[in-house]
Parts: sequence; C-alpha cells; structure tokens
Amino acid sequence: MLVKGVAFPLASDLPPEAISLLCDFRLAVNKAVRAGLDARVSSRNSITKLLYREFREEHPGMYSQHLVSSFEVASGILKNYRKRLRSRRRLGTPFVKRLMMKAENQAYKLDRTEGIIDLPVRAGCHVELRLVVSRYHRQYLSDETLSLGSLTVLPDRVIVAFRKESPRTIVASSVLSLDTNERSLDGIFVEGGRKGDTACIPVKAAFPEVAMIQQRHHERRWRLQKKKAHDRRLTRVLCGREGAREHHRIDYQMHRVANAVLEFAENHRSAIVLEDLKGIRPNKGKELNRRLSLWPRRKLHQIIEYKAAWKGIPVVKVDPRYSSRRCPMCGRIPDSRMGAKTEFACECGWHLNRHINASMNLLQTAISKGLEVAGGLRFSPGAFQHDVVMTLYEPAMAARSEPNGTSHFGETS
Ligand SMILES: [Zn+2]
Repeated sequence: MLVKGVAFPLASDLPPEAISLLCDFRLAVNKAVRAGLDARVSSRNSITKLLYREFREEHPGMYSQHLVSSFEVASGILKNYRKRLRSRRRLGTPFVKRLMMKAENQAYKLDRTEGIIDLPVRAGCHVELRLVVSRYHRQYLSDETLSLGSLTVLPDRVIVAFRKESPRTIVASSVLSLDTNERSLDGIFVEGGRKGDTACIPVKAAFPEVAMIQQRHHERRWRLQKKKAHDRRLTRVLCGREGAREHHRIDYQMHRVANAVLEFAENHRSAIVLEDLKGIRPNKGKELNRRLSLWPRRKLHQIIEYKAAWKGIPVVKVDPRYSSRRCPMCGRIPDSRMGAKTEFACECGWHLNRHINASMNLLQTAISKGLEVAGGLRFSPGAFQHDVVMTLYEPAMAARSEPNGTSHFGETS
C-alpha cells in the first residue's frame, strides 16, 4: 500500500471549537509522551493500556477515537526519540510544540466533490472545514482508486493521506540510466526493441543550487558556532534552525528534479537505473570543509523511487562498484590518472565524460542482473550520440511548478 500526503489550505480560519480540540490533542500527546518515557513503553497498545482510563476522565468531552489517535502520535514520537537516542548523546524530553491533531480515517468525513471535511469534536459537536481545492488537489479528490487515510489538522491547513494499492509495474520499452552526482544526474537514454544498435542519447538533470545551498548553510553554521561559542545551548538552537531551513530548501529542489525525471520516464515508458547509494561514503578529499554530504542524493533517490512506485515505473538499483572506473567498451579498469579530469579514458581508445561513462556501467550491470525491456535491449556504448544532450531538468525550468501542493510521503504496510 502506498500513501501520499496532500496538503490543502483552509478557506477560512479554524472555528474556535476546532482550535480547542487541537489544544486538547496536543496536551494529550505530550502527556502520553511523558508517561511513555516514565513507563519505558512506546507502542500504541501499551500506551493505550497504560493511559486510556485516566485520559478518559481528564478529557471527558474528547471523541474517543481522537484520544486513541493521540496515543498513536505519541507512540511515533517515542519511537523516533529512541532511534535518535541511540545515535546521539544528549536529547531533551521530546514534545509537540505546534498545534496539531491527527484523526484516523474512521474519525472524519471528507466530501470529495465539495472539498468539505466534517470533523467530530465531541458528542453532538462537529465542525466543518472548507478546503481550498486547486487543480492539483482535484486530481487526488476525484481519483476513485485512492482511498482516504488519516487526516492531520494544523491551524492553517490540513493534510489528507491518500492511499493506493501498489500499481502493477509497467513493461518498460526504454531505459534511463542515471549516475548521481553532487550537482546533477547524468546518464543515458536507450530505447529497446529495435534492430541493430539502438541510439544511446546522453541526458542531464542539473541541480547546481543544491550544492550551493549546502555550502552556504555550512558556512552559516560555522560562523554561528564561532560567534556564539560562549552559549552552547543557543548555538544548538540556531544551528538546528539553519539545518531545518537547509533541509526544506533541498527537499524542494529534489522534488522538482524527481518530477522532471519521472515525467520523462512516464512519457517514454522507461525503466530507471540508479546506483545503490547504501554504504557509500563521501570522498574524504583534502578540502574537508568543502565536502558535501550524501543525504541530498539519497533523498533524491528516495523521492524518485517513491514517485516511480506510485506510477508503476520500474526502478533498478545496482551496486556502483567500479562503475566510475571500468571501461564499458573493453571491461578494463584503467589507471585513474589517464585522461582529463572530467573525462574517462581507456587504453583501448575509449573516452567519454566520466559521469556518462559511469551511467553506462550502471546500465550494463543492470542488464546483467536481468533488466527487462519490451523487445529486448541491444545496448552498445559505441552507439553513443555525442551531438545531442537531452535536458531533463535545469534550474531555469523551475518556474513551471506544481501549484501549492506540498507533499510528504511515507509507506505503510
Ligand atoms: Zn577500454
């Protein structure tokens, strides 16, 4: 089952009954978190067992499903806390700061034609929330194959989870093999099912801003640490804030890149080949502070894989070992000092842009692992067309956007 969260702005302010529900919900979550910490439990069931009766008395008015849902949210926070506790030294008691509430799908009604949510507050009291519905939102509301999951209510918007059975994977008729770099995805596009060698066209999706954002935030954090060295608590707060902004900006860019890649793959019925970034560490170069972290690239893969699953586009991930060092023509692993910095060169005479060369190796690995393309795939590096580059994405394309739909996503069983 796939889940996609779609944010809807609210057409008007939340009614006071709903605000007080949000306050109660937050209170309930924070109490449950503290109780869970004290009793050293984190599963929803044990929290419910521990607290339900007491909470029922303290919040006599609250709809009981909302109460259970607050335990669910608390359980998520506790599990997350435990995970972070293992990796870091010091952590304060976790709590929810924002006003929020979450309702399970049985605990609210959504009129999908009108865009109105009916949310029970307590016995005999319901509130109506009118949503702002754009064309982007309409496509989710009117798609009957999507069922409704949980609802998250925030002071200015709601997030509706749409659920979908995993679609059947399409039979690919071409392949998009992409090598993931700090500032771009570089690769090749190969069509299958034709006689002889098929054309092998270079493709590029450039995201130079991501490295710039990382660099800028890195410098800002570094300055903050120096300036506020006398106050470690403040430094932590400010750096945390910087980190959140950085995450948000990069996330946004990566969604755009992924959308462009997926749009191309969908139009050309392409399978996507990516390297498996698991276990890879960034190069420990000389310029240590210029080293960029891998997480934007991991994030990009995550988004591509998620969106591809939603559309039924096959994604093959392959072990990238030697992908940047092997010659796709003769299989040799030449001395890395051969050729110019941006070029891969081999004794056999083969030479090509390093990144594109790597994507060819990824594709060859994928084929040897049984990548299937309708009509077969006769891939030969020799059919590479130097003269054309297909641009899948570049920053100038950013103007073309998805209207005010922020989406976050996750997968549930
Ligand atoms: Zn060679």
